Amino acid sequence: MKKVTLIPGDGIGPEIVDSVKKIFRAAGVQIEWEEEYAGQTALDFFGELLPQKTLDSIKKNKVALKAPLTTPVGKGFRSVNVRLRKELNLYANVRPIRTIEGILTPLSSAAKIDMVIVRENTEGLYAGVEHMVGDDAAETIRVITTKGSRRIGQFAVNLLKNRNVPEKSTGKYAVARKRLTIVHKANIMKLTDGLFLNTVNDVAKDSGFIVDDRIIDNMCMQLVQRPETFDVIVCPNFHGDIISDLCAALVGGLGVAPGANIGDECAVYEAIHGTAPDIAGQGKANPTSLLLSATMMLRDKNIGDDANADRIEAAMFKTIKEGYFVTGDIIKKDGSRGTGTTGSFTDAIISNL
Ligand code: NAD
Repeated sequence: MKKVTLIPGDGIGPEIVDSVKKIFRAAGVQIEWEEEYAGQTALDFFGELLPQKTLDSIKKNKVALKAPLTTPVGKGFRSVNVRLRKELNLYANVRPIRTIEGILTPLSSAAKIDMVIVRENTEGLYAGVEHMVGDDAAETIRVITTKGSRRIGQFAVNLLKNRNVPEKSTGKYAVARKRLTIVHKANIMKLTDGLFLNTVNDVAKDSGFIVDDRIIDNMCMQLVQRPETFDVIVCPNFHGDIISDLCAALVGGLGVAPGANIGDECAVYEAIHGTAPDIAGQGKANPTSLLLSATMMLRDKNIGDDANADRIEAAMFKTIKEGYFVTGDIIKKDGSRGTGTTGSFTDAIISNL
C-alpha cells in the first residue's frame, strides 16, 4: 500500500483532514497515511515549526497532503509554508480553477472556467531577503533567474501537453485551447520580469501551443471579464499569489480551490486557504479545497489512482450541485447560504460515492 505523509495542520486543518480521511476510506482508496506535524501544533509539541522528521517523511514518501499551517506573527519566524517549499525544492505551485455547478459566483457569465495557474514558487519577492536602510527605509531584494524561469516555463509546457481539454473554450469570448499565457510586469521591472518573460517565451515558442503574454494589471481585468479564454497561465511568484486568489473567487472562493506544490522529487498537495481561526472547532469548515487537492494527489505520478480521483470528485460535485449539505461559505444558485456542516457534507459525499 502506498504511504503518503499527512500533515493535519492548525485551526480547521484537523477537521478537514478528518473529512478527507473518511471519504478516502469509504471509497476504498489504497493509501496508508503517515501523520507528521508542522506549524503551530509542531511548535507546541516539539518546539519547532518544521521538524526534520516531517521533512524526512515527505522525502521518503515523495507525496504529502497538507492542511493549512499557522506561522506565529511578529516573533521572527519565517513562514513555514515558504520554508517547506524551499527545503523540498517545490518550485511549481499549481492551482487548477474550474467552475463548480451549484455555486453562485460573482460573474454573471455562463461561460465555463477551466484554467490552471502555474506560479514560480521559490524566487521573486518570496526569497525573504529584506533589510532596513538606515531607520527610515526598508528594502527587499527580488531575484529572478534564467534557471528558475526556464524550469517553470518547461513545467507549464509539459502540463499543457498532458492537459485534456476541448479544442475551444465555451462562452461569449470562446477561443482555441492549449494556450499558454505568461503574466509579468516587464514594462516596469524590465530586468527581472523581462528575464522571466523572455526565458519562458524561449522555452515555449516551439511547443506548438498558442503562446502569449499579459501585463499583470491588464491580466486581472481580463480574468474577471473573460476568464473562459485562459488555459494555462504561468507567472512569477508574487503575481501568481495574487491572481490565484482572484481566480479562486471567480469559482466560489478559497474554500473550493485546490493547490499543489511540485518539485522534481516530491509533491505537497494543499488546501489553498489558511487555518480559518474564526471558525475552527465549530464544524463550519468546508473540506472541498483539501478534498480536491487530495484527488489531484491521487493523480500524482507516484500514485496514479485516477479512477478513485474521478469517482470521489463526481460524488463531491454532485453533493455541491444538490446543495442540501454545503457549508456556510458557499452561496447557492438561489442566493442562499449553505446550512450544512463539515460532517453532514462529508456524509453526503460518501452516500453519493
Ligand atoms: P484564511 O484563509 O484562514 O481565512 C479567510 C476567511 O475565509 C475566514 O473568514 C475563514 O473563516 C474563511 N475560510 C477559509 N477557509 C475556509 C474553509 N475551508 N471553509 C469555510 N471558510 C473558510 O486566511 P487568514 O485569516 O488570512 O489566515 C489565517 C491563518 O492562516 C494565518 O495564521 C495565516 O498565516 C495562515 N495561512 C496559512 C496558509 C497555509 O498554510 N497554506 C495559507 C494562508 C494563510
